Amino acid sequence: MSKTAYNPFMTAQKQFDKAADLLELNEATRDLLRNPMREFHFTIPVHMDDGTRKVFIAYRIQHNDARGPAKGGIRFHPQETVDTVKALAMWMTWKTSVVDIPLGGGKGGVICDPHHLSAFEQEQICRGWIRQIVKNIGPFSDIPAPDVMTNPQHMLWMLDEYETITGGKYPGAITGKPIGMGGSQGRTEATGYGTIITVREVLKELNIKPDNTTASFQGFGNVSRYAIELYHKMGGKTLCVSSWDNNDNKSYSFHKKEGVNLEELVEITDAFGGIDKDKAKDLGYDVLHGEAWLEQNVDILIPAALENQITVDNASKISKQVRIIAEGANGPTTPDADIIINSKNIFIVPDFLANAGGVVCSYFEQVQNNMNYYWEKDEVLAKLDVKMTTAFTAVSDFSHQNNLKMRDAAYVISVNRVAQACHNRGWV
Ligand code: NAD
Repeated sequence: MSKTAYNPFMTAQKQFDKAADLLELNEATRDLLRNPMREFHFTIPVHMDDGTRKVFIAYRIQHNDARGPAKGGIRFHPQETVDTVKALAMWMTWKTSVVDIPLGGGKGGVICDPHHLSAFEQEQICRGWIRQIVKNIGPFSDIPAPDVMTNPQHMLWMLDEYETITGGKYPGAITGKPIGMGGSQGRTEATGYGTIITVREVLKELNIKPDNTTASFQGFGNVSRYAIELYHKMGGKTLCVSSWDNNDNKSYSFHKKEGVNLEELVEITDAFGGIDKDKAKDLGYDVLHGEAWLEQNVDILIPAALENQITVDNASKISKQVRIIAEGANGPTTPDADIIINSKNIFIVPDFLANAGGVVCSYFEQVQNNMNYYWEKDEVLAKLDVKMTTAFTAVSDFSHQNNLKMRDAAYVISVNRVAQACHNRGWV
């Protein structure tokens, strides 16, 4: 499959079909779960700083809410498509299900590039997004959160608009808010930490000590940085990270054979996770081509940037040394690349399990909002560890018992839970 032909929604449907076959789901259940329950397409007019008006295209997709309110992030991206949002919404349904929290799956997006928008223009997009969808979201129906290129400030503007329109205080209507404004301790770390908690469990299974391992990461944003932080705390060494360079319009990989220094790299990274390549060179990093992160002789690969990154075109370049791929990003591996990776006997922690820490902590945030009582960071992270470890163990045990790959095992568990909920409600 070439990159141009890639459609993430087709990937998501293909993965679902495989699980549906394994579960022998009936036709009605397949028809329901292969597609979103609701799709909202809308426009957001914005007064630009230069006096012109610009109209942005936006989406909210609610894939399934049989197990609880729809839940999922809002992404700002210039290449956003409705099919990407539909795929991400479906993956959210499986994600909330695999970690067994009482939520469904949704996702939102705006086609825009925040690199070229002032703070005021971004605020108008956030407020405009809420105005268009306010009747169809809320703490008991659909709860948005941040995703690629959206952050706690965006969430607070959205919540403020929601509360202004509805005339009440509903902090649980949106998660990923700043600390002190209804946000949860640990939310910033949660996705990356959750990914590494699953890696820790794989290493236990494979009988490998973390401090004897090396890793390479794609992306240097929210997920990747905190994954690196916890991985280093466990004793691991990161040899390479990659990031997107918005000036050159391509990605680069940054390699240091004695190991990447997280703090020094953070200092030369912009607000969107782009590492300054000239400053990196000055700090002694080798600046390599964008896909070099994937070709490293390391034990662990963590794609944590975007979907469609490990494809049939590059999967064969993965080193023989690699034992584990933990998918921090959503949908980073195409189904045909999966086949190549499986033939190399690499242990894959599938995306909707590996990156579920974010939604688990978002759920904790909502619980705290509803109680109006906030937990300390240690308490949040301890609860996160329990949820992630329990989910990982359930999937791993199921995969061994049924001779399934981790991705298939995770799919069977989560699709089955959602299908049962739809069935119990009398929908199918
Ligand atoms: P982010 O915007 O904070 O960071 C993205 C990073 O990826 C940046 O460093 C950017 O430079 C880099 N990048 C973008 N395109 C790239 C490319 N082609 N090659 C190399 N690097 C590239 O985003 P994030 O929140 O860290 O999310 C990353 C992935 O994880 C996405 O797939 C997202 O959907 C998924 N995810 C995020 C969360 C969360 O809580 N943030 C939760 C679950 C899943």
